[in-house]
Amino acid sequence: MKKTLSLILCVLLALSCATVAFGADGGKSFGAYDHVIIVGVDGAGAAFSKVESPCFDAIFGNFAFRHNAHTENVTISAQNWGSILTGVDYRTHGFTNTNLKLRARTSAAKNNSIFYYARQAMPEAELVSFNNWGAINHGIIETDIGVKKINNSIDPDLVGDIETYLAEGNQPALMFVQLDSVDHAAHTHGGFSDEYFCAVRRADALVGRIYNAAVSAGLMENGLFLLVADHGESTHGHGASSKEESSAVLAAVGKTVRKTAMNANIHNRDVSAIALYALGIQQPEHFVTCVPTELFGKKERALPGAVAIPNGDFALADLDDNPPFGRRVTNFFEKAYHAVICWLIMQKEKFI
Ligand SMILES: [Zn+2]
Ligand SMILES: [Zn+2]
Repeated sequence: MKKTLSLILCVLLALSCATVAFGADGGKSFGAYDHVIIVGVDGAGAAFSKVESPCFDAIFGNFAFRHNAHTENVTISAQNWGSILTGVDYRTHGFTNTNLKLRARTSAAKNNSIFYYARQAMPEAELVSFNNWGAINHGIIETDIGVKKINNSIDPDLVGDIETYLAEGNQPALMFVQLDSVDHAAHTHGGFSDEYFCAVRRADALVGRIYNAAVSAGLMENGLFLLVADHGESTHGHGASSKEESSAVLAAVGKTVRKTAMNANIHNRDVSAIALYALGIQQPEHFVTCVPTELFGKKERALPGAVAIPNGDFALADLDDNPPFGRRVTNFFEKAYHAVICWLIMQKEKFI
């Protein structure tokens, strides 16, 4: 019975993927983009919905986003970035935080990354990956396919590297970014700490800076900009299967992206399918990922221009959408308290 059920599910999944890949939208969106930019925020989970995130709202608010896409069942970085970049589940690729660092990966390995397929389809294309956590560049993205790799362990500096790179006139067909300070704040201070939510607000500003750099470089005229998290955080970090840990943001903006909340079945690893689809590269058969049917449409829409970057006022938003009156009073004081704490942390770290 269980077998029959999973067979039916597999067939349904395959059909829904195929429908999109072969053009339920008239084929207009398949290959509609020259540039795909994937910005990964390690540990962000659904936290962009829990704080004021003006850049997120300005970039994705009128396009597609879901705060609680599914993660892999193991909510650890290697397992999830691995799936996001290779289109298979964590058991299939077998990456762990430890084994990523052991040896540099080449294209001879199984379960190639989307960079490999991009290179196969576009031998001359500029491909680039910016990592805070360099293990991704070392152990997931192949070393022998001409992907430019830049590592920097300070997020704002890494974003500075991206700004410089794009200002120099580089026009990457596929660009991946991994920011790590949000996860770092959770490990240091806890997943529901003031410091964690401050880090999410800072990440929002950094995402805004990357988007603006892409706009200035002209990439967004024909670019798809994606935001994704590998996992969320609990009080003491991540790795288990709590709702917070196993929720991840997935958001998209591009000229043919619809305004949609995206369906509840999407996974963060679906980014791999979406990226290849947007570049017009057929999804390899062994991928278990899917382009959400509601994501792309025929109609082209104007994209947001450069967004305003908040400069340091990172007071925390209420965590409840519709709290009762008593809770609102408490929240008022909590918010003021968080604002002060946040300001103090910022002063201390001079982060942005
Ligand atoms: Zn992580
Ligand atoms: Zn971590």
